[in-house]
Amino acid sequence: MQKIPVLTKDKAEEIAAKWPTPFYIYDEKGIRENARNVNRAFAWNSGFREYFAVKATPNPFIMQILKEEGCGFDCSSMAELLLGEAVGAGGDLIMFSSNETPQCEYEKAAAMGAIINIDDITHIGMLDEVFAEGYPDTMSVRFNPGGIFRMSNGIMDNPWDSKYGMTKEQVFEAFGMLKERGVKNFGIHAFLASNTVSDEYYPVLARKLFALAVEAATELDIRIAFINLSGGVGIDYTPEERANDIFAIGEGVRQVYDEILTAAGMGNVAIYTEMGRFMLGPFGSLVTRAIHKKHIYKEYIGVDACAANLMRPAMYGAYHHITVLGKENEPAAGKFDVVGSLCENNDKFAVDRELPAVENGDLLYIHDTGAHGHAMGYNYNGRLRSAELLLKEDGSVQEIRRAETLDDYFVTFDTTEYAKALITE
Ligand SMILES: *Cc1c(COP(=O)(O)O)cnc(C)c1O
Repeated sequence: MQKIPVLTKDKAEEIAAKWPTPFYIYDEKGIRENARNVNRAFAWNSGFREYFAVKATPNPFIMQILKEEGCGFDCSSMAELLLGEAVGAGGDLIMFSSNETPQCEYEKAAAMGAIINIDDITHIGMLDEVFAEGYPDTMSVRFNPGGIFRMSNGIMDNPWDSKYGMTKEQVFEAFGMLKERGVKNFGIHAFLASNTVSDEYYPVLARKLFALAVEAATELDIRIAFINLSGGVGIDYTPEERANDIFAIGEGVRQVYDEILTAAGMGNVAIYTEMGRFMLGPFGSLVTRAIHKKHIYKEYIGVDACAANLMRPAMYGAYHHITVLGKENEPAAGKFDVVGSLCENNDKFAVDRELPAVENGDLLYIHDTGAHGHAMGYNYNGRLRSAELLLKEDGSVQEIRRAETLDDYFVTFDTTEYAKALITE
């Protein structure tokens, strides 16, 4: 599908006059509409809840919008738990899905009354200390079926090579141990494939987890309260791909639910999801300015953002569509590499990309960076993370995180003589 920026060139220039490029901008209207569609697509399940994967876009202003749309939060670290707390979420609005978890984080999650999703059976030893006064009624475990995960269109992943979750035997053993410790309601969680652009992923995953749920409930005589399908629902990063249809996904899960759970007399199991990319990816973009044109063996467009602002292309070779604002309808003038300033040759937002003639000063709009974008930012080469802005429903723009300054970069030297020389105030 054609990718249309939420900003015109004029609007982007107006914003850039106040917040110099590069900046991230998120589209409140898009976020809300999408979240409503997710809730509608699963409305057939009365216990349904989307726990937004905070790591994708850890910004409390974004989280507040999602909370207003009925979402909870999937947190995996102390900082993410604190962000959840900052927007007033606690209790069963927080799913703590972490791995290699430090005890202090389990303690914080426990104090918040969060639902704890255990990654490994050995963690129960640590949790016995955290819950020395008694376990909560509800606990979840993470399942890893091993093997290879296939779908009919060939997309697959390798759960056997993934560090997450427990084997089936361990899931049953963990349920037994938790039951002995007084837990009454059990959840099953699994995340088997990432960025799936297929309406089939959740239904195929659900079939596995529902079957496991029926087996565990029968064999161990326990109450399965929820199935957490976790994240992994992808987005159409390229214009050629077809976007996932969340209504088809919801309907696909409903059919498997009726076939397996309702048929087994388990029609009261809640469905949870922990989507990050699908909730935010399409509703954020990185706006950067062309500042150099270079012609050597290839044609380069140098921009003022770099991989420290958006790591996905460098890290995964990920495609992000680019629109040259104001030149939306101009024909391609050739193939270009769009590059940042890092002293790393993988610092390329696009390779051999057909683009219209770009002049220094043009604004480039890098699409679909709302999830795992700013969040993965880093400071290599002393590069600073950009501001995050929110395009509100009324068209106004709010700064929801300021850009880093050099003082931020130097502040961790703060007890040394160097800090006094480097930090301006
Ligand atoms: C990363 C992650 C998610 C979100 O994944 P997306 O691909 O962004 O949907 C959900 N749950 C867990 C446990 C994760 O680690």
